[in-house]
Amino acid sequence: MISNIDHIAIAVHDLQSALERFRVLTGAAQEQIRIEDVPSEKVRVAFIEIGSSKIELLEPLGKESPVAKFLEKRGEGLHHIALETTDLEAETARTAHAGLSPISPPSAGAGKKKIVFFNPKETGKVLIEFVQKL
Ligand code: ZN
Repeated sequence: MISNIDHIAIAVHDLQSALERFRVLTGAAQEQIRIEDVPSEKVRVAFIEIGSSKIELLEPLGKESPVAKFLEKRGEGLHHIALETTDLEAETARTAHAGLSPISPPSAGAGKKKIVFFNPKETGKVLIEFVQKL
């Protein structure tokens, strides 16, 4: 079951200045913010906790990062929406049955989570991520 919008991710060129902007917008305190590198996606991320959901700011770590390519093509802005599930395998089996399969098998995401992405060409031009806490 999909239980929550885990986070909404925004691609940025400069994580620190974007974080300052979102700190003002959300009024988030330091303990609501977590910064982490995700080698599997070649990004540095900042999570800003807002209730049970988060805003994720994504800065590419190098030109070969998928986020670098995204910024080159589309500029800064909405990158993906992440939906939380307690059973990633069951949910991807359910969507596959209806004709929507993830781009690749589950991998390790930020914050000790198992993640998959769906091709935006098949999901109405918005990249969708499923996340499961481990
Ligand atoms: Zn994400």
